[in-house]
Amino acid sequence: FLQAHGTALHDAQGQIGALIVLNDVTRLRRLETMRRDFVSNVSHELKTPITAIKGFVETLLDGAMQDPDDAQRFLEIITRQADRLNAIIDDLLTLSRVEQGEEQSGLPLEKEPLLPVLEAALQACALPAAEKNVRLNLFCSPELTARIKAPLLEQAVVNLLTNAIKYSPRDGKVAIEAAQLQGKVTIRVQDWGCGIAKEHLPRLFERFYRVDKARSRKQGGTGLGLAITKHIVQVHGGEVIVHSTPGQGSTFSIHLPLP
Ligand code: ADP
Repeated sequence: FLQAHGTALHDAQGQIGALIVLNDVTRLRRLETMRRDFVSNVSHELKTPITAIKGFVETLLDGAMQDPDDAQRFLEIITRQADRLNAIIDDLLTLSRVEQGEEQSGLPLEKEPLLPVLEAALQACALPAAEKNVRLNLFCSPELTARIKAPLLEQAVVNLLTNAIKYSPRDGKVAIEAAQLQGKVTIRVQDWGCGIAKEHLPRLFERFYRVDKARSRKQGGTGLGLAITKHIVQVHGGEVIVHSTPGQGSTFSIHLPLP
C-alpha cells in the first residue's frame, strides 16, 4: 500500500512538472496491527489465570473454606495459576530484553566452545526428562565454537529441549547434535514425538501461537518459548528452522554464522 503526496512544480510560464512522494505505509500498518494483537494477546493470557484465581478465592470465601479437602484443593489450584502468571511474565520480560538487544544490534558476542553451553541446557532439562523417562543424547565436538552470548543461547536451546521433551512420548528420546555444516554452525534438537501438521509450521514462531492451546496450557506452556528462541537466534545473526512430520517427530535447527 503506497501513500502519495503530490506537489506541482512551476516556473515563470506555468507548470513544468510534479513532485510525487510515495511512502510505503504497509509496513507501518503491519507493525501497528502486530503491536495491537500482541497487547490483546498478552491481556487475554494474563486474564485467564487471574479469572481462575478470583473464582476460587470467591468460592473459598463463600464457604468452601469449611471443608478442609476443598480448601486444600482450591488453594493448590490458586498456587498453580499464580505460578502460571509468573511464567508468562518471566517469558515476556525475556522477550523484551532480547528485543532490546536486537534493536541495539550491539550484543557483545564472544567466540566460545558450544559443548559447555549445550551441557548446561541439558542439565536444565534433566528433571522434566527424568519425569517422563526421556533419554537425552548429546553429540558435539569439544572443538566446535561459535560467536555467542552463552546464557542467551542456552535459553534458546532449553526452550527447544523443553518442547521436545513435552511433546515426546514416555520413555522416548531426544537428540541434540551440533556440528559445522555447509559453512554454518548448526545445533539440531530432534524428537520422535507427536510432530506438527504442515499448516501450523509457518506460524509456530509467533508469540502465543499454539497448535493445541489446552494441551500447551496443561503442560505449563506459555506459547512464548519459540518466539523467544527465534529472537535469540536472530540476535546471533542466525536463523531457526523446523522440519516436522505428524506422528513421526520434529527437528528444530539453529543455524549460526561461522565464528
Ligand atoms: P508452548 O509454551 O505452548 O510450548 P512454544 O512457543 O514453545 O509454546 O511452542 C508453540 C507451539 O508449537 C506449541 O504449543 C506446540 O503446539 C508446538 N510445538 C513446539 N515444539 C514442538 C515439538 N517439539 N513437537 C510438537 N509440537 C511442538
